[in-house]
Amino acid sequence: MSGKKTEILKYKAPDGNTIRFPVATIEGAQDGPHFVITAGIHGCEYPAIVSSIDFFKKTDPADVNGTITIVTVCSMDAFEQRSPFVSPADKVNPNRVFPGKADGTYTDVLVYHLFNDIIKGSDYHLDVHGGDLVEYLDPFSMYHKGSDETVNAKSKEMAEYYGFTNVIETYGDGAWPDKGTNYANSSEHGIPSAIVEAGNTGLLEPEFVELHVKGIENVLRHFGVLVGEADKPGAIRYYKDFKWLYSPIQGIYRRTVEVGAEVTEGQPLGVIENVFGDKLADVSANAAGRIVFLTANPSIADNGLLMGIAQS
Ligand SMILES: [Zn+2]
Repeated sequence: MSGKKTEILKYKAPDGNTIRFPVATIEGAQDGPHFVITAGIHGCEYPAIVSSIDFFKKTDPADVNGTITIVTVCSMDAFEQRSPFVSPADKVNPNRVFPGKADGTYTDVLVYHLFNDIIKGSDYHLDVHGGDLVEYLDPFSMYHKGSDETVNAKSKEMAEYYGFTNVIETYGDGAWPDKGTNYANSSEHGIPSAIVEAGNTGLLEPEFVELHVKGIENVLRHFGVLVGEADKPGAIRYYKDFKWLYSPIQGIYRRTVEVGAEVTEGQPLGVIENVFGDKLADVSANAAGRIVFLTANPSIADNGLLMGIAQS
């Protein structure tokens, strides 16, 4: 029967606490695919979280073919305790440990249930991110290229129809940037998937919420889950990989570059200084491409993440 419902799914965490998933479901008036949307895997990415909520509120089941399952906040503990990127219980980033483990640490178990009880068996999966407390983003989408060409093609379409200019392909070679991620794991399990990123520094800026809602709706229209004609993607810049740049030492990053900048390999991007202003290290680009992710705040740990470069 068509309609909407909300529920909190609960699971026992290894530390004795309860893992909770707020799940909002839209049962469409017509038959169709099962589409899963996950938001808030990173609990401080508010444009992602709020856009999934807004989409649920505004969508009429009469306009839906099939079923849309939305987890509005996958990491409730991180959300409630304002913990960027990692679960407070074990300091693990959930988007590094998919498909999880039933008998692992808190985050392993969270991820295990999210995948096995909610995502697995669906037809499409979209993982919505963006704007954690310490990140500036130039909006981008990524999809995983695995061995199944049909899945690859649909994942790519998902990334394209979201409407962002920057589209990055990542590979399943067992290394970062996509090992253990939600979207790559879904793709490897035969579910077309993409990760989409927009937002800045823990802010709830309406323009990014609107971008996400628009992207979600367009992808759903493209795959026939939402009635109406999808907008064709505009001009897209395709990138062949995602290179992350880390600090060689702890200190203050005095950067000379902004998010969205195009850089060449080896280009100077600032220096790391100590707390007296002495230079400790130079920072230079480890790839040619576009800076789509930039750590906003200057206090950087040894081997701390400085930026992500979408490689041309
Ligand atoms: Zn994220």
